[in-house]
Amino acid sequence: MAERKSGGLVAFVDESHKLFLGRFLTFDEFPKWLAVQNLGSKPAYEASFHHTYIPDQHSWNGRSTLDGVFRYYRDNLGWPSGVGPHLWVAPKYKGGPVGIWVATHPRHDGIAVAGSNHRRIHTEVVWNGDARAFGPDQLKALRIIAHALKDKLGIPLRYTGATKGQGWFAHRDRASKSCPGRANSTAKIMAAIQSPLAPVISTQEIGGVLNMLSVEEQGLALWVLKLQRIDQIAGSYDRHILMLKIDGAPAAAVEEQFEAKARDVAKEKKVLGLG
Ligand SMILES: [Zn+2]
Repeated sequence: MAERKSGGLVAFVDESHKLFLGRFLTFDEFPKWLAVQNLGSKPAYEASFHHTYIPDQHSWNGRSTLDGVFRYYRDNLGWPSGVGPHLWVAPKYKGGPVGIWVATHPRHDGIAVAGSNHRRIHTEVVWNGDARAFGPDQLKALRIIAHALKDKLGIPLRYTGATKGQGWFAHRDRASKSCPGRANSTAKIMAAIQSPLAPVISTQEIGGVLNMLSVEEQGLALWVLKLQRIDQIAGSYDRHILMLKIDGAPAAAVEEQFEAKARDVAKEKKVLGLG
């Protein structure tokens, strides 16, 4: 059994005895799952990010696509069965929310970058990065993976590029490929990886003080909640706006800044549903 439920919470178990998992985890579940895996006495010290190109975000169809890719690796490329890139950023099913698939278990060496496979963890973002830069969900997934690997293995959130060491690199840093795609900036991906995970103020904290505020202040507090919702999706927006609100900046100015951020994010992904 791969997980146990107690009090409505999922407690994961170690699955490192298996080479290939083919298991989907939500953004919430992934760090909890990784935390209880046995990654050995000489685990990975470096990680890489990729785009898949084929399949892309439109053709991905969940587990059957993942299995198909690994069959291709085995039958056409001659790789050992179940060995390839470890983590795959993609939905569980077509049109579903993006999460993190574990293909090759990160206890084991995978294959993705010639000369940089031993003690590396490779992440494929299911996306055509030659046509378009990663969206907010894809960047958020990389951030969650990077922070989980930092907590578990101490892999720092620094860019190694062509120079092997502790940190993160792009496939194209070490091969004559466009991966993770010509539309993707390595600096932008690294900035997403390095941005903090948790919101500054929790919804519960704001809810708790709401009834102590004036009507105008309550309006500002609600904007803070909306801003955080964007922040959770996009991950790297300015936190000083929160401070402006707390300092009592005029509501109109704050809202204007908020709307500008909202438009930026909405351009990339139409999930905000903001009034
Ligand atoms: Zn690649």
